[in-house]
Amino acid sequence: MTEIELLLTGGTVVTGSSMFEAAVGVDDGTIVAVGDEGALPAAAEEIDVDGNLVLPGVVDPHTHIAGYNTIDSYETGTAAAAVGGITSLLTFAWQGWDDGEWDDSGTLAGAVERHRTAASPLIDVGVHPVITQETDDTLAELDALVAAGITSFKMFTTDDIRLSHGFIGRVFEQLADLGAVGMVHTEEYSVCVEQAKSVRKSPSGASATAYPASRPDYAEAMSAGAVARLASAVDGKYYGVHTTSEAAVDAIAAVQTDGSNVRAETCTHYTALDRTALDRLGNRAIMAPPLRSQADIDALFAQLGETLSVVSTDHVALPTERKEGGPWWESAFGVNSLQTSLPVFHDEAVNRRGLSYPSLVRLCCENPARTFGLPTKGRIEPGFDADLVVFDPDETYTISAEDNHSNATYSIYEGREVTGRVKQTFVRGTLVADEGEIVADPGHGRRLTREIPDWTA
Ligand SMILES: [Zn+2]
Repeated sequence: MTEIELLLTGGTVVTGSSMFEAAVGVDDGTIVAVGDEGALPAAAEEIDVDGNLVLPGVVDPHTHIAGYNTIDSYETGTAAAAVGGITSLLTFAWQGWDDGEWDDSGTLAGAVERHRTAASPLIDVGVHPVITQETDDTLAELDALVAAGITSFKMFTTDDIRLSHGFIGRVFEQLADLGAVGMVHTEEYSVCVEQAKSVRKSPSGASATAYPASRPDYAEAMSAGAVARLASAVDGKYYGVHTTSEAAVDAIAAVQTDGSNVRAETCTHYTALDRTALDRLGNRAIMAPPLRSQADIDALFAQLGETLSVVSTDHVALPTERKEGGPWWESAFGVNSLQTSLPVFHDEAVNRRGLSYPSLVRLCCENPARTFGLPTKGRIEPGFDADLVVFDPDETYTISAEDNHSNATYSIYEGREVTGRVKQTFVRGTLVADEGEIVADPGHGRRLTREIPDWTA
């Protein structure tokens, strides 16, 4: 074999099924060989990773950058992601959200186009269009978008952008024919409205601590179960976003039979923090659905790899001014976590609860890539993109928002000591982040064209 571009030597490769000492050979952005260093071709560049782990780059299917309710651009969001070991992400293209204004005549194609022309990502990126209008014109757009490699769509059952069950059912009928995914934020709107009213009237009802009761677990479970059933009725691919509670997992599990097209994720913060964090963090820890109980966290862990097949970030970048200083209902929703998600989830899941490294790789790399139609992402195997993370499982450090590459000015993990640190991140064979610093030009990232995902595996 002729000389290849790059060899990573001296590491332990982690796949979704095992971990073993091996070198990884990279040429032209692709993994060309994994195995004993002596059996691999010579390389122009050789990097000794010094006994650290070599993981597939994390694939984060749920982020909010360059759009509604976030102050991260592609440049800042993907820089935070790269430093956090994330090499591909999917963000949202909001129908009718045009540069800071809602426009009721907005189209899905227009929203996708605005992202395509937005500035330079450092890692590979794609979008899920968010359907916010119940019109036949919206349905008429789906076929062409799927044909163009946009193979998943987001919908909400709550807040001002909610859709009716009837319309969501029509979307799933059409997506089922196309093989595309419907991902749904599920909370029963009318229950949340009434609960919010009573919480606001209660003593200390304005404090962040009171917020979780305004969006109860049963409201999440009612809506998740209902929409999973709607999708299943037409055998549409249903993906439940940010599952937070035992009640919601149970509702999804009740629909998720063998061979069904029902999948769900949770997010790192729901595994790492319970609602008592709101005492400490106030409105900073407000997101929807809210943080739950310790029993819910235990239930989520029990379902990782079962009903819950993906762990995402739901990264939302906000300044502290839009979180703090008022009652909880004036706080913007969402927390930033692209940079901290892998270290925090590793610390929580592997270090504290004994999750295996291959399980971590399935939840954070393989499963999201397969679920969202990215056949060259999420695995360390010949033929896959050379998206690689060198991870030191033993290094301990303290998280601080001072290190944020995101425009967000705080971290819900501020002051948390974690063991396990991202050392280097490679995107298609190019080193993009090294010891917390960005070392490649924004614009290295590509816009992902996705396939119709195969959920039969
Ligand atoms: Zn989200």
